Amino acid sequence: MKRREVIKNISVLPVAGLAITGSYNLESVIASPSAFLPARRNLFKELGLRTFINAAGTYTFMTGSLMPAEVIEAMVAASKEFVLLDDVQDKVGEKIASMCHAEAATVTAGCWSAMVLGLAGILTGRDLKKIAQLPDLDELKSEVITQKSHNTGYVHALKNTGVKIVAIDTIQDLENAINEKTAMMWFLNYAAPDGQIQHEDWVAIGKKHNIPTMNDIAADVPPVENLWKYNDMGFDLVCISGGKALRGPQSAGILMGRKDLIEAARLNAPPRGGNIGRGMKVNKEEVFGMFAALERYISLDHRKEWKIWEDRIALIEAAVKKIKGITTSVTVPPVANHTPTLNIAWDTSTIPVTREELQDRLRRGNPSIEVVAGKENSINLTVFMLEPNQEKIVASRIYEELNKASAK
Ligand SMILES: *Cc1c(COP(=O)(O)O)cnc(C)c1O
Repeated sequence: MKRREVIKNISVLPVAGLAITGSYNLESVIASPSAFLPARRNLFKELGLRTFINAAGTYTFMTGSLMPAEVIEAMVAASKEFVLLDDVQDKVGEKIASMCHAEAATVTAGCWSAMVLGLAGILTGRDLKKIAQLPDLDELKSEVITQKSHNTGYVHALKNTGVKIVAIDTIQDLENAINEKTAMMWFLNYAAPDGQIQHEDWVAIGKKHNIPTMNDIAADVPPVENLWKYNDMGFDLVCISGGKALRGPQSAGILMGRKDLIEAARLNAPPRGGNIGRGMKVNKEEVFGMFAALERYISLDHRKEWKIWEDRIALIEAAVKKIKGITTSVTVPPVANHTPTLNIAWDTSTIPVTREELQDRLRRGNPSIEVVAGKENSINLTVFMLEPNQEKIVASRIYEELNKASAK
């Protein structure tokens, strides 16, 4: 079936009580409004790639987020001139720092590389010999302390520098673990509710022992205030992803914090070579894109955004609830991907379909839709990565598949 025909079919799906017919321009829903230039070639089509509506969230394997026009424009503008890469990082770094209440900032190749470079800077300072020596830590500090509940796969970013992770539970453990080899104390923001030591104590103990603290807030906007909250609180370094809710380039992130540490981090990164960061290159396009994304994100009407998300969730929820045996709930994760999340659960005695089967049917539909598997017989979805009006397609398709399964 051709796309246009499929879309026409969707518009007549029997979602009782939902005005989903004719109220929006179907072609514009498909041709994502994020697109900046009218594409001369459709490489997705040429290469036979499946594209999809993202009702899942900001996942690296799903290519993260879609960059808004302002971001693409900034990247295209960057691509037109030669400039010194350090000059670009200097100027944009100053702007980002002032927007986020930090002394200094630099654009990195994602939150992961912000972590690597931030720690590398702490270990080496501005000493070129030490920079060339990493990840050999002979005669350098070699331990990073974190809480056991924060000790996830993300610490591997830190291990790139050669350090060992020391995981502790309590403030007393922390005091005991600190020694002359301690390079840094790492905090994983989203794990804060699971840890015994909270932000303020973490920062205070770091300051008391003169050990730099780093907070990983990768996916932790919204709320927008998190962009400066932890700088204000006194963390020496804060790392965030550029390509999650900020909708900057997926291959960008920000390292911000103390000026001396940012300078040292940059010495461990391109355009300089002979360091562990040489492979974590961002060019002027990503730096401009990151800057434009941050500016855009800060200036958004966040209350309005939230209302749009609630309305989208309500529309999908109302559609699927019309089917017998469906229960729904809306939750908001307290930290990280802090956005309304809809759980749709069903009773398999009346609707005999597994969550994997439902995911598969949505994926194979046209347009293809990605959602996340929930607990038992349920799926989860978010709407902050949807383009305008895609919620109607998502509502129709989920309704259609669950209704079909329940009729059997
Ligand atoms: C996504 C994520 C990272 C990695 O960020 P990238 O921008 O993909 O490099 C690091 N830490 C946490 C907690 C994350 O969620």
